[in-house]
Amino acid sequence: MNILIIGGAGYVGSHTVRLLSATGHQVWVYDNLSRGHRLAVPQGTLIEGELADRRKLVEILREKSIDAVMHFAAFALVGESVQQPALYYQNNVVATLELLEAMREAGVWRIVFSSTTATYGQPKLIPIPETTIQQPINPYGFTKLVIEHALTDYSHAYGFGCAALRYFNAAGAHSSGEIGEDHNPESHLIPIVLQTALGQRPYVTVFGEDYPTADGTCIRDYIHVDDLADAHLRALKLIERGSNLQLNLGTGRGQSVRAVIEACRRVTGHAIPIVVGPRREGDPAELVADSRKALDVLGWTPQYIDIEDVVRTAWNWHRSHPRGYATSQV
Ligand code: UDP
Repeated sequence: MNILIIGGAGYVGSHTVRLLSATGHQVWVYDNLSRGHRLAVPQGTLIEGELADRRKLVEILREKSIDAVMHFAAFALVGESVQQPALYYQNNVVATLELLEAMREAGVWRIVFSSTTATYGQPKLIPIPETTIQQPINPYGFTKLVIEHALTDYSHAYGFGCAALRYFNAAGAHSSGEIGEDHNPESHLIPIVLQTALGQRPYVTVFGEDYPTADGTCIRDYIHVDDLADAHLRALKLIERGSNLQLNLGTGRGQSVRAVIEACRRVTGHAIPIVVGPRREGDPAELVADSRKALDVLGWTPQYIDIEDVVRTAWNWHRSHPRGYATSQV
């Protein structure tokens, strides 16, 4: 297939680009590089452009005879979404609607959309099945939920074939060690802990230890980015006219913030100092996936189950790229 990867220069996008290219698809990356990295994209595949630029998108969809779109281009930080909701509604909702309209105009109807566990809010039942009522507790989660609804409606009314993949916590780096996680500023737990192991930060701040969990810190389900990429490939194959899928992607195992730090200590052999701080606004106590539907529907099983294996791939990337992609530019 000819596939347009919107946001393919970002973390999950770039790993999916690698996999799709390796499996014989013709891939084009569309990205404004506001948060993505030129060096994360295979040479000759990058088209720079804005998500909101409907005219340009229509042109590209037609010119490249695109069969399917994967849409990764979103702002995805809970804390930032609480501080700057306008940014989130503008990009994640308004600009994404421009993409859907561009697809409609160009007659492209297959789409795989990056959704999130943040659409659930703080569910009572853990692990979380897809049937859980979606009640986001932050703007980020709301923006993703709006697009899930739009896709359902576009599928019903216009015959779009959609798969919304609800990621839990994307983690790790490509097995080659050539691409990985690089956000600026970095806000995610594993990169921050590994940067501390590298001596780039004096300590890790643990955001709250008064949550109703065994050790008082938040529990998340860390899913390897290559496993996410694999699920995208499988979902793409399943999409048909009018189909509309929502799938959780996680390991089904929860790790507390303290457990993640311990795993990083074991993998790196560094002490990694911590300081306990207050809770971060918008963080639910516990999010763990029930991913049985993805197993049933996609035949997908995560290859990385042990948190240490996930951390090892991230450590491989961070050690060889201590300044992220900037390391490769000098
Ligand atoms: N976290 C933390 N210290 C940090 C960064 C994150 O304690 O410096 C916690 C955060 O509160 C959450 C978990 O680590 O419970 C994962 O956060 P991350 O930002 O990596 O992903 P999110 O769950 O927000 O998508």
